[in-house]
Amino acid sequence: MPELDVLVVGGGHTGLFLAAVLTRHGFAVAVVEPTPPEPLPQPHDGRNLALLRSTHDIARRYDLWSHIGRVACPVDTVVVRERPGGARVVYRAAELDGHPFAFGVEHAALRNALLDAFRVRLGRGRWHTARLEAFRREDGAVVAELSDGTRLRARLLVGCDGRGSRVRTLAGIPVDVRPYHQAAVAFVVEHERPHRHTIHEWLRPGGPLALLPLPGRRTGVTWVEPQARAREIAGLPAARLLRRLSLESEGVLGELRLASGVGVWPLSAQHARRYVAPRVALVGDAAHGVHPIHAQGFNMAVADIDALARTLAEARRLGRDIGLPDVLIRYERVRRPANTQRIWMTDALNRIFSAEVPLLQPLRSGILHLLATVAPLRRLAAARGMAVS
Ligand SMILES: Cc1cc2nc3c(=O)[nH]c(=O)nc-3n(C[C@H](O)[C@H](O)[C@H](O)COP(=O)(O)OP(=O)(O)OC[C@H]3O[C@@H](n4cnc5c(N)ncnc54)[C@H](O)[C@@H]3O)c2cc1C
Repeated sequence: MPELDVLVVGGGHTGLFLAAVLTRHGFAVAVVEPTPPEPLPQPHDGRNLALLRSTHDIARRYDLWSHIGRVACPVDTVVVRERPGGARVVYRAAELDGHPFAFGVEHAALRNALLDAFRVRLGRGRWHTARLEAFRREDGAVVAELSDGTRLRARLLVGCDGRGSRVRTLAGIPVDVRPYHQAAVAFVVEHERPHRHTIHEWLRPGGPLALLPLPGRRTGVTWVEPQARAREIAGLPAARLLRRLSLESEGVLGELRLASGVGVWPLSAQHARRYVAPRVALVGDAAHGVHPIHAQGFNMAVADIDALARTLAEARRLGRDIGLPDVLIRYERVRRPANTQRIWMTDALNRIFSAEVPLLQPLRSGILHLLATVAPLRRLAAARGMAVS
């Protein structure tokens, strides 16, 4: 008998969330991750994430929101503006059911919160500070070989090891990658005026600029531009960077102070052709990567986690081996088509709203004008935007 039910490879957001959820289902789980299980200094690399309502609901169901909620800022208004046309649409939670659309968190704060949950539920003994080097299948198990020489046996290996997934490569699963020739500049600012729990987004030729409210008088900035311009912006001295941000964001936050490092992330979309192989499953960025225009990436991972956990729990209830292909394929059948839709949607939004093609201008303004004036359409767009299914 393998000593573990599931070995999770990668202890980023996805791996930590998955480990906590599977433990709640009663599975014996361990995580392999080269970074030690210590809190990251905040704000770390300036990245910030919008957690959509669907993620909040799943986290609550698995008692993880008590950890995440402490570092998350509720969002109840979203203002989207289009440049250069000037069209604008405002989504208010009060127009729906009054519950927040989303929650803003800093990348490091989320990791630290999930690490807390991991320690409480699994204990440090379930963390292996090492890399997965190789695996083989034998006698109803998968045997993982780690960089520190340890061997671990599990019924199932789950790759949560990000876009360059080693698990995906070792399992022989091909991946389709489409580069965007854009990069995101991300950082955190402190500001004079309160953010009023509002996301501001400017859809601009070249790429979107988004301000995400964080706890306190802090806001996360995700600023997408063609790659050369993004590198130029990230290299500016702080005072010039903030002046440029104030101009681009119409001074909505008043005076600004830089409160993190400034990171640059080249953007691409990618999708693994399959999510499962015998005794292997892929979750999160290891399976799919999207443009950040609609805050989908980690929210899609959380929907994957929920689907995989339900699939495995149901198999165990029926007395099945959780590593068998006909069990795992159920997870792929639920999640791959749903994620394909999300990848197309974010790709289409980016093409329409970020293209430096003047001919698309009337279409962009028209879409925002429709949403601004037709309340049922606006409510429908808001409802679709705040949940990943
Ligand atoms: C600028 C930007 C803005 C974004 N905004 C949002 C947003 O608003 N909302 C949202 O939902 N998403 C957003 N995302 C996407 C989100 O950040 C990612 O989807 C999410 O962080 C992916 O987490 P992950 O754990 O799957 O992968 P990763 O964070 O890449 O973690 C993978 C882990 O695997 C480990 N690893 C790698 N190889 C091995 C190995 N061989 N053995 C063991 N461990 C290994 C790594 O050390 C790492 O810890 C954004 C992304 C960017 C770049």
